[in-house]
Amino acid sequence: MSVIPFDLRDGYIWLDGKLVEWKEAKLHVLSHGLHYGSSVFEGERAYNGKIFKTTEHSERFLRSANILDFEIPYTVAQLNEAKDLVVAKNGFKNCYVRPVAWRGSEMMAVAAQHATIHVAIATWDWPSMFDVAQKMKGIRLDIADYRRPDPQTAPCDSKAAGLYMICTISKHRAERKGYADAMMLDWQGRVAECTGANIFFTQGGKIHTPIADCFLNGITRQTVIGLAKDRQIEVIERRIMPEELAGFDECFICGTGAEVTPVSEIGPYKFTPSTISRTLVEDYSAAVNA
Ligand code: PMP
Repeated sequence: MSVIPFDLRDGYIWLDGKLVEWKEAKLHVLSHGLHYGSSVFEGERAYNGKIFKTTEHSERFLRSANILDFEIPYTVAQLNEAKDLVVAKNGFKNCYVRPVAWRGSEMMAVAAQHATIHVAIATWDWPSMFDVAQKMKGIRLDIADYRRPDPQTAPCDSKAAGLYMICTISKHRAERKGYADAMMLDWQGRVAECTGANIFFTQGGKIHTPIADCFLNGITRQTVIGLAKDRQIEVIERRIMPEELAGFDECFICGTGAEVTPVSEIGPYKFTPSTISRTLVEDYSAAVNA
C-alpha cells in the first residue's frame, strides 16, 4: 500500500491548545494512555467545511473522559472552535476529524491521578461514499468471535481507546476471510453492533435495532432513528437474537465513518438492500450536507 503513514503527513495538528506542524505532534513512549489504555477519542466528519453535530461530539468526548475518571481541560465551545480551526488551517472542506485525549507521563502505574491530560485534534481526507448505486450493492459482514462486554465489566458508554482492542482483532479476522467488517454479539449473545458502527434491520416496513445498553449509542444511530421517524417509519429498539436474522429483509450499518451503508450478507444470512436503506442513505446525505 502506498499510503503516506499518518505520522509523516503534512499540515497542522492542534496539540494542547495550539496548532503545531503535523510531524511535530508527538508524545513520549512513557505515556499512561499508551500503557494503560487511558485514552478517549472522537470521530467526526466535516461536510462543506462544517462539522456535522460538532457539539454532540464534543459533549461525548468530555463524557467519555469523565467515565475514565479524567477531565478534559477544555470546554465544549473551546473544542468546537479548535476543531473548526484545524479543518480550516488544513484547507479541508470535506474531511474526517479526530480529537483524542490521553493521560500523560507524570505517573506510570495503574494509578495516575496526577497525570496531565493531553488533547490533540487532527484531520484527514476520508472520502464519503455517497454513490448510492455502489452502496446499494451492500457490504458483507462476518460474525465476530468476541462479544461486547457486560457494562459491569467495561466502561461501554465511553468512546475509550481500550474498548477497540476486540474490534481491531475482529475486523482483522473478518478481512482475512474476505468480509468488509464483523457484526458483534453482546455478552448475552444478542446482536450488538459492528466494530465501528451501529446496526439496523428491517422487517415488513419497520426498522428493528438493538438497544444500546452495552455499546455506543452512536450519534449517527440517533440521527438515523430521527430521520426514519420523520418518514413515519416505525423504529423498534429491542433485544435481537442472531437466529432472527433469517427473518429480516434489509440490513444497514451506520456511523460517522460508515455513514449509512447497506449490508448484503452476515455470515449465512442474506439481505437485499431496498427502499428503506436507500431512503436513509439519501436522507442522511441530505442531513449532513444541509
Ligand atoms: N459503535 C462503535 C464501536 C463505533 O466506533 C462507532 C463510531 N464512533 C459507532 C458505533 C457509531 O458512532 P457515531 O455514529 O457516533 O460515529
